[in-house]
Amino acid sequence: MAEEAVVPCTIHLSKINVTVLGVLCVFGFLYYVSVFCVIVPWLSYSVPGITNMGVLTVTTCLSLYCYMFCVMLDAGRPPPNYQPDQEASSILEVKRKDGAPRYCQKCQQFKPPRSHHCRKCQRCVLRMDHHCPWTNNCIGHANYRAFFLFLICEQLAVCMFAHVCKTSSPSVLPSLLGGTHTHIRTYNALAFAVALPLTISLLLLFVWHVQLVMVNKTTIEYQEGVTASINAAASGAPLPDLRRHPYDLGLYVNLMTILGSNPAVWPLPPCAPTPGGTSYSTKWDLLSAADAEEHEARLLGLT
Ligand SMILES: [Zn+2]
Ligand SMILES: [Zn+2]
Repeated sequence: MAEEAVVPCTIHLSKINVTVLGVLCVFGFLYYVSVFCVIVPWLSYSVPGITNMGVLTVTTCLSLYCYMFCVMLDAGRPPPNYQPDQEASSILEVKRKDGAPRYCQKCQQFKPPRSHHCRKCQRCVLRMDHHCPWTNNCIGHANYRAFFLFLICEQLAVCMFAHVCKTSSPSVLPSLLGGTHTHIRTYNALAFAVALPLTISLLLLFVWHVQLVMVNKTTIEYQEGVTASINAAASGAPLPDLRRHPYDLGLYVNLMTILGSNPAVWPLPPCAPTPGGTSYSTKWDLLSAADAEEHEARLLGLT
């Protein structure tokens, strides 16, 4: 595969808007209630209490770090001089209408594979997954790892909180909603009302992205596959096989593509944007030379 051009990727403080501040307040409130209205009243500052507080603090801090990474880090934009290189790639994404390389009329430049134009961000985004209103930013090539780690850390924090509730008292729910101090009772009831739908939503989002990561697919690519199936069914054409994805290289390589080539750093919080983003290995890159000839000039009918 040809050497990739350096993709400019920057931190944007301007991405911190009212929604982001609201999310930070909700996380802060839930942390405060978890520690000072649940753990401290039940376990006090005993060894189990401090241990639970420590684990909850670490998972919450990691969640917030990854969240702010997703908010402030540019998701990745195509280099201004990007040109599709059919010779260097085993796959070329083309327009469905005329088979020409994909070109963004709004940005006035060619689109690298897997990139899409975001109407909210008003520019093309590398390996765009989706535009997230809760981060006021696109989730794409450069910050997807941080997004996925955020989902994992947040699930760990939720599991930790559930563990505390389960083990600290046999009558946890009545205590949560009926503490002796009025402000603790109010805070607990409010936290419970906020945390329950939030936990369910984030759990569903986590499960969804685990499935996507396993097959190295983006949310947009999944939607495109579903749309192609609906269109094929409507026109009587053979249905495309949604399980066949050109960028699905097997679970281990998929994880290396998304989380980094060194498995030792997978659990570590990100400190830099994911490099590259203008070309991706495909199934056909892994085939033998003889097989590769058979699959030469393979075209994908994307918009
Ligand atoms: Zn564009
Ligand atoms: Zn966007």
